[in-house]
Amino acid sequence: MLSVHTSPLHQPGTGDAGGMNVYIVELAKRLAVLGIEVEGWWSAQACVTPWVKTHSWAGHYDLVHSHYWLSGHVGRLAAERWGVPLVHAMHTMAKVKNAGLADGDTPEPAARVLGETQVVRAADRLTANTGKEAEDLLRHYDADPGRVAVVHPGVDLERFRSDARGVEAGRAVARSRPGLPQDALIPLFVGRIQPLKAPDVLLRAVARLLAERPRLRERIVVPVVGGPSGSGLAEPEGLQKLAARLGIGDVVLFRPPVGQDRLADWYRAASVLVMPSHSESFGLVAVEAQACGTPVIAAQVGGLPVAVRDGVSGVLVPGHDPADYARALYGFADTPARSARMGEAAIRHARSFGWASAADVYTAALLRRGSGSGVLHEGRLR
Ligand code: UDP
Repeated sequence: MLSVHTSPLHQPGTGDAGGMNVYIVELAKRLAVLGIEVEGWWSAQACVTPWVKTHSWAGHYDLVHSHYWLSGHVGRLAAERWGVPLVHAMHTMAKVKNAGLADGDTPEPAARVLGETQVVRAADRLTANTGKEAEDLLRHYDADPGRVAVVHPGVDLERFRSDARGVEAGRAVARSRPGLPQDALIPLFVGRIQPLKAPDVLLRAVARLLAERPRLRERIVVPVVGGPSGSGLAEPEGLQKLAARLGIGDVVLFRPPVGQDRLADWYRAASVLVMPSHSESFGLVAVEAQACGTPVIAAQVGGLPVAVRDGVSGVLVPGHDPADYARALYGFADTPARSARMGEAAIRHARSFGWASAADVYTAALLRRGSGSGVLHEGRLR
C-alpha cells in the first residue's frame, strides 16, 4: 500500500488527514484477516520515489495498491519496475472537486488532472467507493469500464456501535459524561474544517431555526469536532466569528479533533449528524455515526446518497440552502423520538457496508497480468 500524501498514522479530522487515512487502515485490517500480508509505505513522495528506484524489490511484492493521485505516480513507477499489477484508489478527483467548489475554495490545478489521467490509464484496476464514483471515472477520465470495481468501504463496527441497552439508553449515557443536557437537540458536525465540508451551512441553519423558535435556545447544543484543513472562510476562527455574527456563539461548542473512541461518544450523544458537504467521495463519518445509532442529515452529493438512506437512516437535502437544513432539523427538534427510531434503521444500514469485494479486486488485477492463478493460497496471493 502506498500513501505518500498523508500517513494513516496521523490523527484524522485535521490538515491532510481524513477518511483516506482511516480507509487504508481499515482495508489493511480486512485484508490481513483474509491472510493477505500488507506492507505500507507512508512518506513524502520525494522520499519514496528514490527508494522505489534504487532498491530492488522485484519478487518481494505481488501487487501495488496506491491511494490518491500522488501515490498513483509512485505506484505506476513501482508496478512497472517490479513487474506487478497496480490497483489504484482515487479517493477524490480533481474534475469532480472543481465542479462542486464552495466559495473560498481554490480549484485543483491542471497538473493534477493530467496526473490523474495518467494513473487511470496505467492502473490494472481502479477501486471506486460507490457506483457514482465509478461513473465519474468513466465520464471524466475515460476509464476502461472493465477495469473499474466498486468496493464500498466499511467502518470498524467494534468501535462504532450503539449501547447494548439500545440507542436511547446509549444516548443518555453518552450525554451524561460530558454534562450535555439530556433533552437537548444536538446536531453534530464532524470533519476537517474547510469550505468543502460546509460547516457554515449548519451554523446558518441553526441561526434560522433559533430565529423562528427562540425557546429552542434553552435546549440546543451544536458541537463542531475537527481541525483546520486547507484555507478559507470555514477555518475554526472564521467559523467562530461567523457563529458570533449569527448570534449563536453561546450554543456552538468547538472541539479539536479526537481519537475515534471519543468520537464514537460524540456520535452516540448527538441527535443527528449534519454533513452539508459540497463534495464527498463517500463520507465515512456518515457511516460511523449511523453505526452508533445516530441518523444523518446530508447533502445529496457524491457518495452521500449511498452512505445515507433517505427517509430511513437520515435525510438527504438537495443543495446547500440553510433554510432546507433548518427544515430538516425541525423534524428532529419536534419529534425527539424520531432520532432513536431512525437511529435503529441507521445501525442496520451501516452494517450493510464492508470490504466484501476488496480481495476480489486484487485477484482480478493479477489475472489480468497473467501473474499466476490469482487466488488466495496459503496466505499469499498467487
Ligand atoms: N475523524 C477522527 N477524529 C475527528 C474527526 C474525524 O478520527 O475528530 C475521522 C473520522 O472518524 C473519519 C475521518 O476522520 O473516519 C473523516 O472521513 P470522511 O470520509 O468523513 O471525510 P474526509 O476527511 O475523507 O473528507
